[in-house]
Amino acid sequence: MTARETTMSASGILSSAQLRPFPLDRVQIGDDSVFARAKNQMLHLARVYPVDRLLAVFRANAGLDTRGALAPGNWEDFGHPREQAWGEHDYPGRENAQTANLLRGHYAGHFLSMLSLAYAGERDEALRAKVDEFVAGLGEVQRALAATGRYSHPGFLAAYGEWQFSRLEHFAPYGEIWAPYYTTHKIMAGLLDAYELAGSVEARDIAVSMGHWVAHRLTRLDHERNQRMWSLYIAGEYGGMNETMARLSVVADEPLFLEVARLFDQDDLIAAGVDRRDVLTDMHANQHLPQLIGYLHEYDLTGERRYLDAVLGLWDQIVPGRTFAHGGTGESELWGPPGTVAGDIGHRNAETCATYNLLKIARHLFALTRDARFMAYYERGVLNHILASRRDVDSDTSPEVAYMFPVNPGTVAEYDNIGTCCGGTGLENHVKYQDTIFFTSVHADADADADAELWVNLFTPATLDWREQRATVRMQSTQPLGGLTELRVDGDDFIDGATLTLRIRVPDWAVETPTLSVRSETAGGTTETITAPVDDGYLVVRRPWSAGEVLRIESRAALRAVPTPDDPALQSIEFGPSVLVARSDATTTLDLALAQRRRLDGSVRADGSSSIRGADAAEAVEAALRSEGAVHIAGVRFEPVWTGSDERYHMYVRASGAEIGFVGAETGVPVRVRHDGTSLLDDIWREPAPVTRADFLDRVGQTASAARRDGLLSHGELVEVLRAAATADVDGLGRHPGGTVIETDADAEVETGSATATQAVTWRESADAEGIRLVEWLVPRALADAPIAPSVAITTGMLPAPSGWFTEVPTIAVTADDLSGVGGLNVEVSLGDGEWMPYTAPFPLPGDGEHRVRARATDTSGAVGHAARDIAVDTGAPVSKATVRRLGSSVEITLTATDEVSGVERIQWEGPGTFWATFQEAFVRALSDDEQVIEFAATDRAGNEEPRQRLILPARGDVS
Ligand SMILES: [Zn+2]
Repeated sequence: MTARETTMSASGILSSAQLRPFPLDRVQIGDDSVFARAKNQMLHLARVYPVDRLLAVFRANAGLDTRGALAPGNWEDFGHPREQAWGEHDYPGRENAQTANLLRGHYAGHFLSMLSLAYAGERDEALRAKVDEFVAGLGEVQRALAATGRYSHPGFLAAYGEWQFSRLEHFAPYGEIWAPYYTTHKIMAGLLDAYELAGSVEARDIAVSMGHWVAHRLTRLDHERNQRMWSLYIAGEYGGMNETMARLSVVADEPLFLEVARLFDQDDLIAAGVDRRDVLTDMHANQHLPQLIGYLHEYDLTGERRYLDAVLGLWDQIVPGRTFAHGGTGESELWGPPGTVAGDIGHRNAETCATYNLLKIARHLFALTRDARFMAYYERGVLNHILASRRDVDSDTSPEVAYMFPVNPGTVAEYDNIGTCCGGTGLENHVKYQDTIFFTSVHADADADADAELWVNLFTPATLDWREQRATVRMQSTQPLGGLTELRVDGDDFIDGATLTLRIRVPDWAVETPTLSVRSETAGGTTETITAPVDDGYLVVRRPWSAGEVLRIESRAALRAVPTPDDPALQSIEFGPSVLVARSDATTTLDLALAQRRRLDGSVRADGSSSIRGADAAEAVEAALRSEGAVHIAGVRFEPVWTGSDERYHMYVRASGAEIGFVGAETGVPVRVRHDGTSLLDDIWREPAPVTRADFLDRVGQTASAARRDGLLSHGELVEVLRAAATADVDGLGRHPGGTVIETDADAEVETGSATATQAVTWRESADAEGIRLVEWLVPRALADAPIAPSVAITTGMLPAPSGWFTEVPTIAVTADDLSGVGGLNVEVSLGDGEWMPYTAPFPLPGDGEHRVRARATDTSGAVGHAARDIAVDTGAPVSKATVRRLGSSVEITLTATDEVSGVERIQWEGPGTFWATFQEAFVRALSDDEQVIEFAATDRAGNEEPRQRLILPARGDVS
């Protein structure tokens, strides 16, 4: 008989928050929600995966029967065969403590959290039975460990010895130990979830006992030792121990645990956050993010404002300045410099568990502050990183979630992840999508008649049991592909005329404030347009409701090209809340003519929509995404990132294009660049970008004049650009009638639609005989005399491979054209940030790597023309190797490969009876009566394939 308490069905709620979520079973995600796929795939794993496999590493450590169960594997695998139940005073030595799985137990902790979350959402008694079975197994292990008398306190519970903790107290590095308190956190968090979400009193008791063991270890250490421990890279990583101890202090009503939570405070990080000093560069993102959740709980329980200020200060250093389009952060798990997104793109960006924690921080900060920007991040991250991180396949054994979800060109997500950190957090991510859709004001329960407030944060089909108001709220939504949402208020016992306040988040991607109407679905129903004030980024709809009334919310989405903060030409393509990724075989950055298709509302014109105007363009994009799953821009296919596809993708593309143009108006004028690589198009669309057609014409006049003075345009080209700008369909109303160009003296008095400026083009509108308004450009005569700089081009003697990489070293040729005819061109080249050198003849690039080649030509008048080109070269094949481990009469083969330049794309192999397949994970071959030849080879991202290697497995009889 299992002791049972009334479950709270929500966990980790801050008592001082202004808002709180609903219990998980009160919100049901609709089957037509995009989140339903990942949720159902993960619920399947929760139901079929055996608890004995999760308990196996614990039982082995405690000397209990593992019941023949295999450990999950990878990081969550059995320890050394000679492992003893090593106590706190033992150090087994590296040879006896395999670093590869010193984190074991953490994945089981996450699995227990997942089962508890899944139970709380689904109310499936089979899931609760699994929680109970799991907790009982952990209790048995805890008792068995205590019975040995080898540990410092009977509350100790782990799947390895206590020595990792004592070695940490002597500052052992990662490699000797692996984040022992991180694993303790995951186990304790799983137990707390089992108590709070599934009512397991035994789970609470085990966690309390563990809490006493943690207190016993840490309260005997001095402050300086703790501080130094928590700053150790990975070794001192403790997940959210401060969060768990703070929560436990409430659950157990034990003030000591709050004191222990504070022993985990990392003083220098808190101080930096409070002072808004940026110390994050090169710090391990996911080591420190969970601490922030703990600080919010410490703020909640102590009222000390510095904890909250620290988190707010650190948040602002991460979002948006260190955040990629999908909400991920970091490269190779570390943060880059502040305000650096494009500059931090590497091969392993965006560890998924970091986003798992950022979402937790965001929803707490929102509940505390009601600041809508935290929900804007939440929407971005949960859809584009978290949902995308679940591969669209079913599995009985693997969570099929991503570790890194990289953002470099032509990359793939790192799916699978049994037993890794992101495998663990990934278990939880997909069974709690309903937890942030709706919030309610904290006072709503106590005073049910007045000020009942529903906060609608996220838009996806879902049903809320709002029983405090005797209401059922059904949300239908076309998001994330469209912008139409309907909320139907209903309920058998609903009291007609009850006043409810619905607060509807205004998405930051909406082109304008959403429009609202209320429809009555009773007989003789009417539709009434309503207005509502916007408060804190939410529309406030306060009115008496009748059962069956439907609030209709229309948000206009647009296809947008969103620049990175540190490289405005590097852009992600987004539609509504969805990030769209490009599908291409290239592994170098795609160059697309994006500015040439841009409209004033920030939207980008999709292919085949030249005659589609304004809001209809968004409907055409939505229709294409629904019917084909994709939209095409400049000939490239873009799909939502969140589908769980494991195809290659590009999250960012470069806005460039060979010719100057505007939406619906081409010029044939080449894009020329300044010394810093910027062009006239960059200048025209510089933020803050023009928002009205008059702004646009002003900006074109100013920037085209500057480009003309800088020699980027000839006089004839200037005229072409001005004429095209006047006719461009930038406002989505169709092409405008042609503009005229009038030469004028610079100091002539002209009345224009914009300020006059010396040697600057201005414009005015006049009506022709039929009343059609025409733009007249007034071009100062002095501009006609400005020089035109030489035209410069950088060419290669060959085309790159389909990957975009050159697999042979290309020869660089520079051609310069003396456009003004003054003669005497001086042509120079530069590689990377190197010195300018005279260019005399074509030359080969120095070798492998990603090179930026710049060239310039100066004529005798001093006018300078520039060109720049990024050229990626990888001529070398990757190198792979096979590692063979003997397992009795069979062998386990692991294939690894390295490629220092473009990176490893894949390793393939075949043996007797198998085909040339991509290596996924270590495989086992039984030895046979004959020798077996295994062939394998790696391919890099550039497309270089190494010669096939051979591994010969001996015949069974030959093995001694
Ligand atoms: Zn991770």
